[in-house]
Amino acid sequence: MPSDAPLREHMIPLSVPEISGNERRYLAECLDSNWVSSAGPFVERFERAFAERLGSPGAVAVMNGTAALHLALLVAGVEPDDEVIMPALSFIAPANAIRYVGAWPRWIDVDETYWQLDPALLRSFLERECTSRGGQLFARDSGRRIRAILPVHILGHPVDMDPVLDLARRFDLRVIEDATESLGAKYRGKSVGRLGDVGCFSFNGNKLITTGGGGMIVSDHTDWLDRARYLSTQARDHPHEYIHGEIGYNYRLTNVQAALGCAQIERLDEFIERKRSIAIRYSAAFSAQRGIWLLEEAPWAFSAFWLTTIAVDSSQFGRTSRDLLSVLRAQGIETRSLWQPMNLSKPHFSVTSDCPVAADAYRDGLSLPSSVSLTPAAQDRVIEALRSAVASTATMS
Ligand SMILES: *Cc1c(COP(=O)(O)O)cnc(C)c1O
Repeated sequence: MPSDAPLREHMIPLSVPEISGNERRYLAECLDSNWVSSAGPFVERFERAFAERLGSPGAVAVMNGTAALHLALLVAGVEPDDEVIMPALSFIAPANAIRYVGAWPRWIDVDETYWQLDPALLRSFLERECTSRGGQLFARDSGRRIRAILPVHILGHPVDMDPVLDLARRFDLRVIEDATESLGAKYRGKSVGRLGDVGCFSFNGNKLITTGGGGMIVSDHTDWLDRARYLSTQARDHPHEYIHGEIGYNYRLTNVQAALGCAQIERLDEFIERKRSIAIRYSAAFSAQRGIWLLEEAPWAFSAFWLTTIAVDSSQFGRTSRDLLSVLRAQGIETRSLWQPMNLSKPHFSVTSDCPVAADAYRDGLSLPSSVSLTPAAQDRVIEALRSAVASTATMS
C-alpha cells in the first residue's frame, strides 16, 4: 500500500484529545449564558487554575502557543535585529515568532541523548563566538546583540536548565521557555515554563491538554504579564473609549475555548500518568531491540512523555525511520517524523550553522502513538507491528 493511502478506519492515531470530563457541561454553561467570545468567566477561571497549577503569580490566556511566544518575546524586551538563541531541533513556531519581532534566531545543536538544547554547545558559543561591549553581548560573525535564550522542551521532556540559567545570568540574557510540548513536566522538581523569565504553553489539539487552539503565558514578572495582556487586547488604554497606546494584537482566548481548558486542566495529572505508563510500556518492549532506542527520561527529569519517540538506527537493520513510518501506516498505525532542523528549513536557512545531531534526529526520530486513550491492546498492536517490521528486514539482509 502506498504511504499516502488513506488510513484505515481502525487506525491507531498518533495523539488525539481526551474529551470525557466536564467539557460538555462547561460548554453548555457558555452557550446558556451567551458568553462565547473573548470576555467571560471561563477565561479568568482558566487563567487562575493554570497559574495556580504552575505556581505562577498570574497567567495570560491567548489564542495559541505561537501568539504566546510572540508576546513573550515582546515583553522580554527582544528588539528588531537582536538575536535569540534556540535549538535547531524544534517545531517551527518559536523560530517564526522570533522573526515576527524582527529578531533573528541563532541555532544551537541538541545533545545526543535527549535531543534537547545542548548546554555545552550554548556555553561554547557564548564564550568563544561572542564579545561583550558596553555591558551587552554581541555575536562576532553577525555583529548583532544576543538578547535571549529560548529553550524548547521538546516531546514532553525538560531541557537541562541549570547550566542554561547559569549562562543566562552570567551573560545577562533573558530566558523565554517554550514549554508548549511539556505541560506538567518537571526539571529537578520544578515545573517547566517556570524556570526562566517567562514560559509559554499551547493547547493545540494534540498537546497535553487542548482547548481546540489556545496558549498561555506565565511569569514571575507580573508587569510583563500585564503588558502581555495589554498587547493581546489591541493595546487598549481605556475600558470604554477606543483609545490605544500602541500597535497591539487580537490574541485573546475565547470563553468557549477557556471552558474546554478548565475541564482539561482538571485532568492533567491523569493524562500525564497515562502518557508516562505508555512510555514505560514502549520502553520495556524495545529495551532489547537491536536498532531501536527509545528517548528515555534524564535523571533530573520528570517527563510528561507527550509523544514517546524512538530513534531508528538504519545501519543496524537496513530500514529507515521513513520506511517504518510507511510500513506502520499501511497497517493503520500513525507515527510521525520529527521536524526538519531549523537551520536547514527554507524560511530560516542559515549557511553558518552546522547542527549534526539535529540532522540525525530528523533522519532517525519517529514518534509513536501516545494518545491518553491508547488501550493496552492497541499499544500491543503498535509494538508487534514495529517488531515484525524490524524482524522482516533482519532476515532480508
Ligand atoms: C505546538 C508548538 C508550538 C505552538 O503552538 P500552537 O498552539 O500550535 O501555536 C510552539 N512550539 C512548539 C515546540 C510546539 O510544539
